[in-house]
Amino acid sequence: MYWSNYHSHCVFCDGRSSMEEFVHFAIAKGLKKYGFSSHAPLPFNTFWNMKLDDFAEYQSEFKRLKEKYKSEIELYIGLEVDYIHNFIEIHNDLYSSNTMDYLIGSIHYMDQLPSGDFWTIDGNFRDFFAGLKLLFDSEIRPAVERFYEISQCMIEKGGFDIVGHFDKIAMNASNCVDFDNSASWYKNRVGELLQLIKDKGLILEVNTKSLVEKGLCFPDFKFFPLINDLQIPIVVNSDCHYPTNMLDGFEPAFKALKTAGFKTTRQLIEGSWQAVEII
Ligand SMILES: [Zn+2]
Ligand SMILES: [Zn+2]
Repeated sequence: MYWSNYHSHCVFCDGRSSMEEFVHFAIAKGLKKYGFSSHAPLPFNTFWNMKLDDFAEYQSEFKRLKEKYKSEIELYIGLEVDYIHNFIEIHNDLYSSNTMDYLIGSIHYMDQLPSGDFWTIDGNFRDFFAGLKLLFDSEIRPAVERFYEISQCMIEKGGFDIVGHFDKIAMNASNCVDFDNSASWYKNRVGELLQLIKDKGLILEVNTKSLVEKGLCFPDFKFFPLINDLQIPIVVNSDCHYPTNMLDGFEPAFKALKTAGFKTTRQLIEGSWQAVEII
């Protein structure tokens, strides 16, 4: 089995290298399939989303590379699209499947702060905790419950193929003394969401971005057996922002998947998501 990666960020959003540099690295590492998934444009300025004005060039540069390297690697273009509850949905003519090979649906922002900005759960802990204080009186459980409520809405509304880093709130929540991802209420909440992902026929991402550096995988390894029991299709992605991080965490993630009983992962092959045996 060869490795693949469909979640990556290049200079069109907050990644640090050109598309072509990622392609060179992928070929050098023996990848046969590779996908770009810049953060989709948003109606407000951020440090990490693509600008709407750059969207056409994102597509034309991709087309150039796809053709140039077609004998060496299958390249795909997608987007990581934000779902911001009561503000922006993933359904959007601009990102339709006519133009993109796949879409990853992710939550980085939750509710609006008194300033009007959206509370980001994917940034540093200082900002996370400041928002927690303003929106949830510093109580972590209602914030986590809200995250899963919003995730449920995103999945029910659909319009994407892959659920990105589905329990990402645990990254910052784990720094709060009152949060325990072994608590029964939390496991129940995760279980309900996984069941919904299964019912909707979506692919669940195993996001290895923070595995080497922080020992965190999204989903957490402890949920792997449940995901396998539910037979939810998975795709292993590194969410890399530098080419050198392209395969970070893949070895321990695949090892943990095998231990949990997974037999297959999904890869986009000749335009369709197919089950590939994990060896
Ligand atoms: Zn993300
Ligand atoms: Zn990402």
